[in-house]
Amino acid sequence: MQFYMPTKLYYGNDIISQHKEEMILGEKAIIVTGRNSAKITGALDDVLSVLKDFNVPYIHYDEIGENPTYEMVLKGKELAIKNECDFVIAIGGGSPMDAGKAIAVLAANPDLSPDNLFDMNNYDVALPIVTIPTTAGTGSEVTEYAVLTKPNGRKSGFKSDLIFPDVSYLDSKYMVKMNKSLTITTAVDALSHAVEGILSKKSTTISNILAREAITLIYNYLPQTLENPENIEFREKLAIASTLAGMVIAQTGTILPHAMGYRITIHKKIRHGQATALFLPLIADEVKRFNPEKTKIIEKIFGSLEEFEKFLKKIGVYDLKIEFSEEELELYSDEIMSSSHIKNTPGEYNKDKIKEMYKKITKI
Ligand SMILES: [Zn+2]
Repeated sequence: MQFYMPTKLYYGNDIISQHKEEMILGEKAIIVTGRNSAKITGALDDVLSVLKDFNVPYIHYDEIGENPTYEMVLKGKELAIKNECDFVIAIGGGSPMDAGKAIAVLAANPDLSPDNLFDMNNYDVALPIVTIPTTAGTGSEVTEYAVLTKPNGRKSGFKSDLIFPDVSYLDSKYMVKMNKSLTITTAVDALSHAVEGILSKKSTTISNILAREAITLIYNYLPQTLENPENIEFREKLAIASTLAGMVIAQTGTILPHAMGYRITIHKKIRHGQATALFLPLIADEVKRFNPEKTKIIEKIFGSLEEFEKFLKKIGVYDLKIEFSEEELELYSDEIMSSSHIKNTPGEYNKDKIKEMYKKITKI
């Protein structure tokens, strides 16, 4: 077994101001963000003040939307090349961080198109990457993954050790302003990473220890955070949980709930974390039937898999109305059966079983 997570992670309150120099990984930065969150949270100001202290010029690309597309990362690539940026600072939730990773590879390899990212043999260099998460969910600050939406509408992740961020700053003060629905969808994304890591065929002793801790933190602190959203200590517990869960999937990858969730994020506009968590109890049941040892950690934390589902219900994961036509189910199940996630999910799956699972979540 192995454990590999080469990112230098600084965490705690006001952490950027305590480690300024470590952010300077080149001579000109491209700052990659969404429209608002980097500004509203104060993270952008903290970064700009460091760049100012060290007289490092930058350009700010702030057009990354949820579920970043080829178009968005290509624009970032062009800006980085045109302005001769030699390192990336990505601030925000998973979308800006993942887009920043894609831009880091594309800008260092001008001949590559986004399609080429999905084969890591196509490149052996990327710009250095700094990430600053402003949500507690994706774990992208400690992973070698980035997820993009392809022109055909399919969400796909690419993977390369080159896109492990070089330096990440985790400060929960950027997270206290998250509203309730963002807090829930991001926390259950982290929960999905930890649960899927445990269920995955690629789980390891160390990834299970990290996953157990991440799940326990979310179980204990998500309900409390929803009641006291501005409590920075609770926010910090969720931030740590999310980063631990990121370290888990850096080892194990994600499994079927992520693949199944991607389809309804794209086609039904359900946010990523919620879309994924909907499928966790169904897949956990399936895995348990196949290998009862696999679900023991989860059962120990929640009491049972039924209690796990009740927890998700209580925090609002199933508060949605969703329906699928036969054609949609045909399309999704085809896509799922050809996804890489299915290979690492214990159990036996076929198109009918996948369709049944989609139907089940419309009735919970
Ligand atoms: Zn996820």
